[in-house]
Amino acid sequence: MEQTEATPVVPLEAGAGPENPPCPACGEPLFGWIARKAGLEGPVRRCESCGLAIVGAPGGAEAALRELDSLREENVVRIENRGSVACALGGAGWTGLQPGRRHLFTVEAVRRLVAQRDQIVKSARWRPLASLASTWQTLLNSVTFGRNVALAALRDVPAVPAPQPWQRRIDALASIVLAIPALLIAIPVELAGGLSRRGAVVSIRLELF
Ligand SMILES: [Zn+2]
Repeated sequence: MEQTEATPVVPLEAGAGPENPPCPACGEPLFGWIARKAGLEGPVRRCESCGLAIVGAPGGAEAALRELDSLREENVVRIENRGSVACALGGAGWTGLQPGRRHLFTVEAVRRLVAQRDQIVKSARWRPLASLASTWQTLLNSVTFGRNVALAALRDVPAVPAPQPWQRRIDALASIVLAIPALLIAIPVELAGGLSRRGAVVSIRLELF
């Protein structure tokens, strides 16, 4: 059938429904992103406006702010950036998908959330080394059965090990053999991310009142 009519412009709100609950940060509907997988409490939805992603059923702004505060030291929150180049590249293998995490933040989502309690984002700083480690792990996740196994061995990051012992042995071997090649890819990816303000790990300074 020939389409001669102009595509109607549908506001995002028209997509709201039981399958698309509102984003706790900005109110736009959330859309399905990643199916439920090991280590996660449910499927992951994301907001196409502010970028916030939520694992399982959304619990509203209060729950999102509570998790944000759990990442806060004094007036600085450090996030694995859901809006990063590494996340866009890694998808379901993104390092930020960690057990126990319910809200996966972007700088814009943090800005919208803290505005609800009259706070502002004073600055957002790319953390180059932490970002490089995170992006490196995202790349390794694309070839391992488990997730975040290398980074968990090196620093305090929760891992989702593969279910079978033989898979865990292959993961350990792959993480060693591919460590350097993955690093050589991670460096330009993360440089591109950092320079385009889409770095993997970002420190956000909040103005507290
Ligand atoms: Zn949103």
